[in-house]
Amino acid sequence: MTRMRLAPIAVLVALLLGAAGCSGDSSPRYDEVTAAPAVTEPGAAGAATPAPAANCNPRASLRPAGALPAPGQMPADSWMAEIRKRGRLILGTSQDTLLFSSRNPFTGRIEGFDVDMAHLIAQAIFGDPNKLEIKVIAYDQRVNEVLLGHVDLVADTMTATCDRWNDVDFSAIYYEAGQKVLVRKDSTAKTIEDLGQKKICSAAGSTSYDNIGKVKSAPIAVARPTFGDCLVAFQQNEVDAISTDDTILAGMAAQDPYAMVIGDRFTQEPYGMAINKKHPEFTQFVNAVLVKAAQDGTWARTYEKWLGGTAPKPPVAQYR
Ligand code: GLU
Repeated sequence: MTRMRLAPIAVLVALLLGAAGCSGDSSPRYDEVTAAPAVTEPGAAGAATPAPAANCNPRASLRPAGALPAPGQMPADSWMAEIRKRGRLILGTSQDTLLFSSRNPFTGRIEGFDVDMAHLIAQAIFGDPNKLEIKVIAYDQRVNEVLLGHVDLVADTMTATCDRWNDVDFSAIYYEAGQKVLVRKDSTAKTIEDLGQKKICSAAGSTSYDNIGKVKSAPIAVARPTFGDCLVAFQQNEVDAISTDDTILAGMAAQDPYAMVIGDRFTQEPYGMAINKKHPEFTQFVNAVLVKAAQDGTWARTYEKWLGGTAPKPPVAQYR
């Protein structure tokens, strides 16, 4: 949090709107993103989502296959070779998750911990971390964008869940988050259970939104396309609170002096990068990159760059 640049919200929003569309990446303008028609997670609009396997461990990914090939020596017929031929890795992420993937108003570039994970993959394929195209996507489109092949991977504070494993593969876990709740500083609430009948905002298509529905005191879950929209709704008094991962809430609290995060984590949200099931060799490759980053200190440096303090131990990779 120490490295956060604080800016008045109105200025920040104006800069974000102004910067969108004029950077080097292919991100659509902010208003185009929010104007996109609401689309549901796969399975929600017709075909029923299959029930997750009873023995599903969402943290267990595909074991890396041997040593990491050198950049420029991707195995023939692999998805990494395809990406190399194309000349850039395509990442799907959001542009308003401060510290993880948000547009820097001074440079117009999208940056953060999630974006740096993708830079690591680009570095491993090309020997150049900047051969990366960023596509801004809505939270409820993360699975669809992977399924449709519009992106090579999604790194977007995305929890690896058994439901999502039905549609996409996940890398090994690269960050452990957990859900909390953010309220106004004058609130007397101590935990989310104290917010019965209050309106709590979360992004459509997020695990956070579903989790609000499980709170015993029965708060009213309000969905918005992005967590940036939730913050605006909160500041305009349309909702009483925002609930999502502590990582995302920390970024919001840093932008809003009248907001505070309360209570302990009440869920586990292990982040993985989502990858198309057609390319298991790419998931294995990404996992090999994560192992290397954990071993050579890159993961810890990236943690400290964005989140400050001393990095904890990186998540231990689990494989199926
Ligand atoms: N990590 C949760 C999820 O993947 C909530 C926050 C988010 O939408 O990224 O749904």
